[in-house]
Amino acid sequence: MIFKQSARWRGRGVRSLVGAVNSPVRSFAAVESPMLFAAKAGGPYLWDADGNKYIDYIMSWGVGILGHAYPPVVAAAVRAMKHGASFGLATAGEIRLAEKLKRHIKSLDKVRFVTSGTEACMTAVRLSRAFTGKTKILKFDGAYHGHFDSLLVKSGSGNLTLGLPSGKGILPAYTRDTLSLPFNDIGMLKAAIARNRGEIAAVIVEPVACNAGVILPQGDFLKYLRRMTKEAGMVLIFDEVITGFRLGLGGAQKVFGAEPDLTCLGKIIGGGFPVGAVGGRREIMDLLAPVGPVYQAGTLAGNPVAIAAGLQTLECLEASASLYKDLETKTFRLAAGIRQAAAAAGVALKVNTIGSLFSLFFTDQPVTSYAAALTTDKARYARWFSGLCRAGILFPPSAFEACFVSAGHTDAVIEKTVKGLTRVLESGI
Ligand SMILES: *Cc1c(COP(=O)(O)O)cnc(C)c1O
Repeated sequence: MIFKQSARWRGRGVRSLVGAVNSPVRSFAAVESPMLFAAKAGGPYLWDADGNKYIDYIMSWGVGILGHAYPPVVAAAVRAMKHGASFGLATAGEIRLAEKLKRHIKSLDKVRFVTSGTEACMTAVRLSRAFTGKTKILKFDGAYHGHFDSLLVKSGSGNLTLGLPSGKGILPAYTRDTLSLPFNDIGMLKAAIARNRGEIAAVIVEPVACNAGVILPQGDFLKYLRRMTKEAGMVLIFDEVITGFRLGLGGAQKVFGAEPDLTCLGKIIGGGFPVGAVGGRREIMDLLAPVGPVYQAGTLAGNPVAIAAGLQTLECLEASASLYKDLETKTFRLAAGIRQAAAAAGVALKVNTIGSLFSLFFTDQPVTSYAAALTTDKARYARWFSGLCRAGILFPPSAFEACFVSAGHTDAVIEKTVKGLTRVLESGI
């Protein structure tokens, strides 16, 4: 496999973009493989700048649930573009998409569209502080809620990959009121709430942690969290930027039977365009300007092209009764194939899955916490990544990111992936 064009773009890119990228994980810094430049994609496939073809499990970090460049979504975006890409005025599509979100996610009374998951989480935190009149925010280790200052504490995703769980340039004043606790640890949660009684505005949680690898909530953790936050008068925020419309139309809150006060959405709901949303209880949401005193705004918020792509995506997801079940079946088959190949090769490996989400940990410990996720053998992951890449299978260039199966991944594609990765494991990583 030749990576000449990618190497050329990287050489040129570092002179005009920082690290030749606009989001850190794209630099492949953690896998020591040649950095790839994407040229095009369709269905489950992605082609790099050299024309190499890959079966893609990054899928734009979860955006692409229908597969890349899904024709009805492309058509909807093109139609919208022809009528003007941005007006700076309200449009009917925004109301339709909000109504659709409300129909599927019962905890949403009202919604505000923004342009990224980061903004959705930032706005949810601001609203929680305004609603409760309290200051502190509780989050969980290894969770990622976007890149705004007060949530970059022990965060996952690129921060974790690059070994910068908090990062520089953030004033201590902005993180002083952020508490980070181990995910799935009810004892620690209880103690922290007792210690900070009357001071915590909100708990923000990824109901399935997806940014330190995939880590499932254990037992009734989410229901417990719901009960505790209600009793203590705290706002419960579910960051469903990945899990929303990924685990099912009702998101993780439906799957786990726990309703938050506020929900953050992103990724899938923009159909490949920049969209985020925050929504939830009327009395909290109505604090936003112009109805209430909490300020939030955006030139491109509710952008008509993004909204059209999002609407079309959700319509396609609604249209197939078996879509989520099929995604899960394929993901389980893939996970079983990976486990079997690893066992045959004598490689210690744990695969966590839920719905069409999965991730690998090169460890012999069950991974139900951030601490357990950190036991993964990162050097081995890097070798796995390179081996697969050369076999035409693209996994995330980081040991701590989730992998995604799309509706475009057919049974034959899954089969081909299992065959390819089995050969890589057999040859030793
Ligand atoms: C991706 C992600 C975000 C941030 O969304 P952006 O659109 O990248 O700003 C927030 N929370 C979670 C759980 C995410 O996975």
